[in-house]
Amino acid sequence: MTSFPHLLAPLDLGHVTLPNRVLMGSMHTNLEETKDWNRVAEFYATRARGGVALMVTGGMAPNREGGVFPGAAGLFTADDIANHRVVTDRVHNAGGRIAMQILHAGRYAYSPECVAPSAIKSPISPFPPKELDEAGIEKQIADIATAAARAREAGYDGVEVMGSEGYFLNEFLVAHTNKRTDRWGGSHENRMRLPVEVMRRVRAAVGSDFIVIYRISLMDLIPDGQSWPEVVTLAKAIESAGASILNTGIGWHEARIPTIATSVPRRAFAWVTKKLMGEVTIPVITSNRINTPEVAEAVLAEGCADMVSMARPFLADPDFVRKAAEGRAEQIAPCIACNQACLDHTFQGKISSCLVNPRACFETELVLEPAPVAKRVAVVGAGPAGLSAALALDSRGHTVTLFDRADQIGGQLNLARKVPGKEEFHGFVDWFRTMVGQSGIELRLGIEATATMLGDFDEVVIATGVRPRDPGIDGQDGPNVLSYIDVLRGAKVGPKVAIVGAGGIGFDVAEFLTQNGGSPTLDLPEWLAEWGVTDPEAARGGLTEPKPEAPARKVTLLQRKPEKPGRKLGKTTGWIHRATLQAKGVTMIGGVNYERIDARGLHVSSGPDRADPRLIEADTIVLCAGQESLRDLVDALVTAGPVVHVIGGADLAAELDAKRAIDQGTRLAAVI
Ligand code: NAP
Ligand code: SF4
Repeated sequence: MTSFPHLLAPLDLGHVTLPNRVLMGSMHTNLEETKDWNRVAEFYATRARGGVALMVTGGMAPNREGGVFPGAAGLFTADDIANHRVVTDRVHNAGGRIAMQILHAGRYAYSPECVAPSAIKSPISPFPPKELDEAGIEKQIADIATAAARAREAGYDGVEVMGSEGYFLNEFLVAHTNKRTDRWGGSHENRMRLPVEVMRRVRAAVGSDFIVIYRISLMDLIPDGQSWPEVVTLAKAIESAGASILNTGIGWHEARIPTIATSVPRRAFAWVTKKLMGEVTIPVITSNRINTPEVAEAVLAEGCADMVSMARPFLADPDFVRKAAEGRAEQIAPCIACNQACLDHTFQGKISSCLVNPRACFETELVLEPAPVAKRVAVVGAGPAGLSAALALDSRGHTVTLFDRADQIGGQLNLARKVPGKEEFHGFVDWFRTMVGQSGIELRLGIEATATMLGDFDEVVIATGVRPRDPGIDGQDGPNVLSYIDVLRGAKVGPKVAIVGAGGIGFDVAEFLTQNGGSPTLDLPEWLAEWGVTDPEAARGGLTEPKPEAPARKVTLLQRKPEKPGRKLGKTTGWIHRATLQAKGVTMIGGVNYERIDARGLHVSSGPDRADPRLIEADTIVLCAGQESLRDLVDALVTAGPVVHVIGGADLAAELDAKRAIDQGTRLAAVI
């Protein structure tokens, strides 16, 4: 009897039986764009070996106009088919199955060639689309069907037709983007004609013994989105047209409601998928913020879906399913839904990876092989940089001693996890604790490592982290001034607050101080109300008026740079932090000089000529002015003997984050 009976139950699709209920959802990693097909193949084969039942590739363009950007990967030529064969063969040899996603981007394409049902520009692409005529529509349908046939030729086990998230097929379904008056627009029957015809033609192109997944948008989260009866009617029509499985999507990319960020409650939308259960007879998949086998099992056991789709969790840990099946769930590296190394990279045109697992998408170049010479290595600092270095060194056969002067591991992660919406950091620290506990690492907590103590090691890794920067403001030693560390550790804070510094930590502290001690991330009904999400049966697209809770304090967030605070936050998550603070009435001010602090609050002026001197009234002033490297040990050690390496914040405090710290720790450990 396994602990995850629903998750690990096989799924019979008629011509094929999947070994369990886990799909690796499509992710655009930019790997295909490297044209290094060995690397692409290794990425997927690694996950196939980890036991996932079926994987879906990143979106492949069916034609030039449908590509997410000019030249986006697709299956156009005999060479393309041969390249994809490298991937499918490697996956099959590893015992896995893989489907190719066909993604027609429609008006979301970052390309002057983009096409759509109507010539309505999307807010997330600078290019207005060309409205398709009858012949143009026929070409798109034919190209999608041809792409499916080529996928079969390339050895894929199936295709996924991308019909959600606001892409081409989804655009036909809603009046928001479809203003046509011909047989492809107007009534719902007309609006759904294109997706249904695509499904019918894809099935005809691939035959009956091939998996065809259709990804349907259950809740568009945009004005004038689909009504629930329309969604159900479409689902039934797609089933009749030949789909084997319905995967489900939530929210268009232009929706102003987060759907996968870390502050979204776990399994936040499984209830929507549950509404579709029983309406169709083919298996239905749910997704979004499912990142542990326990959550996935609960979703299936409660009848919310027949299968779960997880995408980013397979970047964090390719062996997710195998570890769950072998009773080693606590060893699964958790996806913390930060987007920092995956989606943020994708949108910057970089190769995706994972904050938690820097080997993701770098399987062929960041390899942790047994060390040729086992050494005695000391790692000083058990924050993310030191922990990842220590674990990787241990895995390579070195003898590792890990020191920290604190009485617990985790470093700055222990502060991050106090912030509402960052609860996933708890699981991340727990995972580090488990892995260190099961490793051969000697953990020495509560010890201030000295140069003398470290003299006998072969090599020393300094990962001592950072200390808060002293902003040197007149009056900052007063009783009304706190550092962010004091605040996150529970110091008493008054009802009116001024925050000095609007970086990642300034924003975190503002969120912490405006909440009433709770976290909407842990309370789904409250979170849905705050963002204005309702039952799609009650309102088209599932949208309603947001009802944020009143803020616990009046907060003013300041910075010296004369720009909008929060500009440098994560590409895919910065807008969520800005919107959250706006909803809590936080005043954000850029371009100030800090003149002095007194009992009344913070005195500031504006610009280089110190104009407009004024008082920001505040009971408490919180300093979040960035970090400086803590590297006192380094100089002492350089003369003492062992080879010394410096990583993480101790190496470079500017723009430090856990992603860089973990990546640097792992890469160093790979070469010692
Ligand atoms: P940060 O992002 O570098 O921000 C430091 C802030 O302090 C800036 O607003 C800066 O703005 C201000 N500042 C710098 N020198 C100052 C001085 N001498 N006096 C007064 N103000 C000064 O650093 P952080 O907020 O401490 O965050 C540390 C790292 O953790 C960041 O790199 C961040 O990426 C990461 N982090 C990320 C998140 C996230 O949501 N992704 C959350 C928390 C932390 P001005 O110079 O314009 O005044
Ligand atoms: Fe998950 Fe963050 Fe890794 Fe992306 S970078 S897979 S969101 S942990």
